[in-house]
Amino acid sequence: MAIVLVGIVLSLSVGLVADRAQRDGMLYWSAGLVMHTAAYVFFNQRAQIGDFASIILANVCLSCSLAAFSEGIYEFYRHPPPRSLIWAPVLVVLLALVVLMDSLAGRIVVSSAIYFSQALLAVSLVWQKRGQTAGRGKYFLASGLAIVMTMVALRAIGAMRGAGAAMTSLTESNPIQTMTLAAALVCLILLSLGFVLMSKERADELNRVLASRDELTGLANRRRLNETLASEWARATRSDQPLALVLLDIDLFKNYNDAYGHQAGDECLKRVAQCLESGAQRAGDLAARYGGEEFLLILPDTDALAARGVAEAVRRAVEAMDLPHKVAASGRVTVSIGVAALTGACYPDAESLLRAADEALYRAKNDGRNQVQLAEQALQHARADEAVTLKLVQLVWRGDYESGNKVIDEQHRKLFSQSNKLLGAVLGGQPTQEVAALVDQFIADVLAHFQAEEAIITAAGFADAPDHALQHRVLVDKALALAERYRAGALSVGELFEFLAYDVVARHILAADRAYFSCLASRADAPRRDREDAARQSAQAPRNPAA
Ligand code: GH3
Ligand code: MG
Ligand code: MG
Repeated sequence: MAIVLVGIVLSLSVGLVADRAQRDGMLYWSAGLVMHTAAYVFFNQRAQIGDFASIILANVCLSCSLAAFSEGIYEFYRHPPPRSLIWAPVLVVLLALVVLMDSLAGRIVVSSAIYFSQALLAVSLVWQKRGQTAGRGKYFLASGLAIVMTMVALRAIGAMRGAGAAMTSLTESNPIQTMTLAAALVCLILLSLGFVLMSKERADELNRVLASRDELTGLANRRRLNETLASEWARATRSDQPLALVLLDIDLFKNYNDAYGHQAGDECLKRVAQCLESGAQRAGDLAARYGGEEFLLILPDTDALAARGVAEAVRRAVEAMDLPHKVAASGRVTVSIGVAALTGACYPDAESLLRAADEALYRAKNDGRNQVQLAEQALQHARADEAVTLKLVQLVWRGDYESGNKVIDEQHRKLFSQSNKLLGAVLGGQPTQEVAALVDQFIADVLAHFQAEEAIITAAGFADAPDHALQHRVLVDKALALAERYRAGALSVGELFEFLAYDVVARHILAADRAYFSCLASRADAPRRDREDAARQSAQAPRNPAA
C-alpha cells in the first residue's frame, strides 16, 4: 500500500511539473512512475483478479516502468534512445511469463534477469554521461538503479535455491517479501529524487552561465568581470604576482552605427569580441564586455610588457579584419587600447588599476586612435625592463668588421644602427605605421648599400662579384617578404632578430663579405706596393756609367 501511495504522489508531482517542450525526460519519468504504481496495484489485487492476470499485468507494467525511466534518462542526456533495446524486454517479459506460467522459480529467474538488464542499460548511460552534469543527482539515480539490480539478482538466486515459495505473493508477510518491498520503496524514492535533482542541477548550471555571459558577444559580462577582477586582485596581491588589464574601445563607433546601422554595429561588436578572445589564450585569462563598445581583458601573472604584446596583437587582429568604416581615416574599423599592470604595490586597489587602464586608453584616443598605450606606472616599469631587453638584443659593431673601404664600412655601420632602431621599435610596441616606416627605410638602405658594394667589389676585380650580387638578391627578397608579414601582423620579434642578426650580419656582413676584404685590401695597397717595387728595381739596376 505504501509503495502505491508513494508512487501516486511522485507520478502526480513529476507529471504536473513536466514540460514537454523542455525535453528533459520528466514526462517519460512520470509515465514510468504511473506504470510502477500500476504494477504494485496489480500485485496487490492478486486475490481479486487471479494469478494469471495479476502476474502478467504486474510484471509487464514493471518492465514498462523501467523502459520509460530509460527513455527519460536518454532524453535528459539528449542521446538518441536505442528503442528496441529499451522496449524489447517488455515483450520478452510478457512471452516468458505466459510460457513459464506454471514454473514459479522460472518466472522469478527470467523476470529478474530482464529487469537486471533494463537497469543495467540505464545505469550504463548514466555512467557514460557522468561528466556532463555537475552535482550529486546522478549518484542518487545510479544508487537507485544499483539497488534494483542487487534486489532482482538476490531474488533470482533465492528462487534458484528453492526459496521461490516465499516470493509467491507480495501481499504475504515474510522477511523476503518485506525486504523486497522496502528495497523497492527506497529505490523508487532514490531514482525519482536523483532524476529531479539532475534536472535542477542542470537548470542551475544554465542559469549560472547565462548570468555571467554577455548575450550579444558571448564574452563574460560585467558581473563576471567584477567577480574575476576582485578574486584575481586578491590573488595577485597575496602572492605578489603581476596582474594586467587591457581596456579596449572601438574607434568612432558612434559614427559606425550612424553609417551602417545598429545591426551592423552589433555584428561589428561580435567580430571585435572574437579578436579579443583570441588574446585571452592562457588558462585564467578572461575576456569580458565592459559595457557598450568597451571590452576588458584580465590577464593574471602578466606584466606590462607582455600585456602590451597581447594588446598589440588584438589591435592588429582587429585591423586585419579590414571591416570597412568610411568615417575613420584608415577606412576600416580600428580599436584603441589602454594597458595597466599591477607590479609590486603600485596601485592601492583594483579600481585604481582599472582607472589607470582607462587613462591610458584616453591617451590612446587623444594620440590619434588605433594604438596601444601603457599606463604611466606600467610605462616606467616597461622602460626599465625594455632597457635590459634591448641591451640583450642589440647588434654591437666591432672594429674587426671593417673592410678597409670607407664607403662600405660606413654603410655597414649604418645598417647596424638601423637594425637596432628597428628592434627597439618592435620591442617597444611602437605604432605599426612608425615601425613600417623604419622597415621601409631599412630595406631602402640595404638596397643602396648592396648597389654600392657591388660596384666597388666589381671595380676591385673581385672574381666572385656576380655570385655575391646573387646573394644580395636573396636577402632583399627575404627582407621584402618580412616587411609584408609585419604589415599583416604575422612577424615576431624573434624572426626579425634572426633575419637581422643571423642572415644580414652573421652570414652576410661577417662571412660572405669577408671574402672580398682581401681583394679590397690588395687594391688599397696597390699604389704603395707599386712605389716599393719601383724603388727596389731602381736600387738593383746597374748604374749607368754614363749617368
Ligand atoms: P571614440 O573613438 O572616441 O571611442 O568614439 P566613439 O564614437 O566610439 O565614442 P563613444 O564611446 O562615445 O561611442 C560609443 C557608441 O557605442 C555609442 C553607442 O551608440 C554605441 N553602442 C554601445 N553599445 C552598443 C551596442 O550594444 N550595439 C551597438 N550597435 N552600438 C552600441
Ligand atoms: Mg566608448
Ligand atoms: Mg569608442
